[in-house]
Amino acid sequence: MPAPLMDTYSPPDLVFTHGEGAYLFDDKGGKHLDFIAGIAVNSLGHAHPKAVAALKAQADKLWHLSNMFRIPGQVELAKKYCDATFAERVFFTNSGTEAIECALKTARRYHFSNGRPDRYRIISFTGAFHGRSYGAINAGGNPKYLEGFGPRMEGFDQVEFGDLEAVKTAITEETAAIIIEPVQGEGGLRAASDAFLRGLRALCDEHGLLLIYDEVQSGAGRTGRLFAHEWSGAAPDIMAVAKGVGGGFPMGACLATEAAGKVMVVGTHGTTFGGNPLAMAVGNAVFDELTAPGFMDRVVEVGNFLGQQLHGLADAHAGLVQEVRGRGLLLGLKLDESKIANRDFAALARARGLLIGAAGDNVARLAPPLIITENHAREAVEKLDAALHAVTQKA
Ligand SMILES: *Cc1c(COP(=O)(O)O)cnc(C)c1O
Repeated sequence: MPAPLMDTYSPPDLVFTHGEGAYLFDDKGGKHLDFIAGIAVNSLGHAHPKAVAALKAQADKLWHLSNMFRIPGQVELAKKYCDATFAERVFFTNSGTEAIECALKTARRYHFSNGRPDRYRIISFTGAFHGRSYGAINAGGNPKYLEGFGPRMEGFDQVEFGDLEAVKTAITEETAAIIIEPVQGEGGLRAASDAFLRGLRALCDEHGLLLIYDEVQSGAGRTGRLFAHEWSGAAPDIMAVAKGVGGGFPMGACLATEAAGKVMVVGTHGTTFGGNPLAMAVGNAVFDELTAPGFMDRVVEVGNFLGQQLHGLADAHAGLVQEVRGRGLLLGLKLDESKIANRDFAALARARGLLIGAAGDNVARLAPPLIITENHAREAVEKLDAALHAVTQKA
């Protein structure tokens, strides 16, 4: 990327001009099937008529107030999320990282308010990703993201993803909370088992800890439930959401039970932009679509279909594709790194008109819009098949 931008990204030489549904169009007339959707963000695809209409209508009325004043769209959307989930309190943010910051602060403040300020340590998991703020990189614990940014922050303990015994051992008198992604995105599309989430819930109940879910990527219908943890039946005390809940408009939220949420009183936390009228207009429209009758059933169906097709690909390219991972429409192909790097594989797919992402552990990441049909899935699988053949032919 040429200056004056910071070199934090290295995008390919492509410029998109517009999108429609599951497709993006570039300035040279190229058409691309979008199976990454702004990294699991464009849940309704591009230019969804209802989301566009909601944004346009609000744009004519009022853009921004700050939280100095009441924003009716916040109350409306918070009520919808509370009715649909475990939550009883909501704080709106601009991003996933900010939702995580609110979640971590709420967990510590809960113990502080209950006379236990000594309980501040947070247990997180290997392969975790919680965002890029200081709190989030320390919770995530990825050495690559921590390097060069000063001493590690005190108060985070990391244990092996999926290892309940290790969690038990890590719990001390000072532990405040456990934070986990029900399906790890960045870390390589690893899904926690339902039994593991239920085990964490039981441990939290036993020790008086708060369970925090990071559903920034796995939520908003991505796995065929409004939130991925619903498959397990193990509810959290606090949950961070973002990405897909705004359908492409930057927004997130920290959801909490009454017991956890009520400790965040006037003066404890804030945001200038979070929950602004534009975000709330789109957030409400996206929520209404995600929860419309039959929407989630279709996500489950097309997710199952795509998953089966990917298993077929893995069989056909055994050795190159080592594993199919994930859940619903958050899926990954773990590739043999001695044969191809996931980023190079994404470039091969892109050259064939398919946009996909990369994740940790050399996994190619698929997170298409939730509105895709089986035909889109078939088209993607054909292009993936062609890209896999290209790898084999080069070798
Ligand atoms: C993307 C992501 C974040 C960070 O969200 P931003 O909006 O980029 O700040 C946090 N947690 C998970 C699981 C994510 O996928």
